[in-house]
Amino acid sequence: MVKIGVLGLQGAIREHIRSVEAAGAKGIIIKYKEQLTDIDGLIIPGGESTTMRRLIDKYDFFEALVDFGKQGKPIFGTCAGLILLANDIVGQDHAHLSLMDMKVERNAFGRQRESFEAEIDIKGVADQFEAVFIRAPYIMEVGPEVDVLATYQDKIVAAQQGHYLCSAFHPELTDDHRLTEYFVKMVEK
Ligand code: GLN
Repeated sequence: MVKIGVLGLQGAIREHIRSVEAAGAKGIIIKYKEQLTDIDGLIIPGGESTTMRRLIDKYDFFEALVDFGKQGKPIFGTCAGLILLANDIVGQDHAHLSLMDMKVERNAFGRQRESFEAEIDIKGVADQFEAVFIRAPYIMEVGPEVDVLATYQDKIVAAQQGHYLCSAFHPELTDDHRLTEYFVKMVEK
């Protein structure tokens, strides 16, 4: 059974553990960077990207996370986790982990649509997937190595670049675990 860590600093941690276990893998909450050596893949959950970044620095996780990705270990970023993976954030001089070649905008669906659900198709993963968006970002542009997996109202809301996967929505909040299962398969390979 593959072991999938969920970065346990802030955000929707337990929900991802539940989803990982439903998808047939072992879920482990990651509180210390030393634990990264023990897992096969990592989920960076939704929450608040600026707060999560502050905690990443405080607990000295930054280099360890970048190394984890550069070693070829799969990472799945959801919502704030997607923002942390991007190498370009609208209106900010500096990005965070910069592991995916894409430009993202935070809170991009506007105040009136702070949170909502929408049915989307995720290429190669799921048809009619009920996606939960909470103060969600979207991806404005992707580099040549990034595969667009889903759009909603012409905005990119899920993408993959090799062993990196991201979604602007929260796949862990419903009982439809197909996107998490897809990530588990990426880790198994
Ligand atoms: N708006 C949050 C951010 O900018 C992301 C929201 C979420 O993860 N649900 O980090």
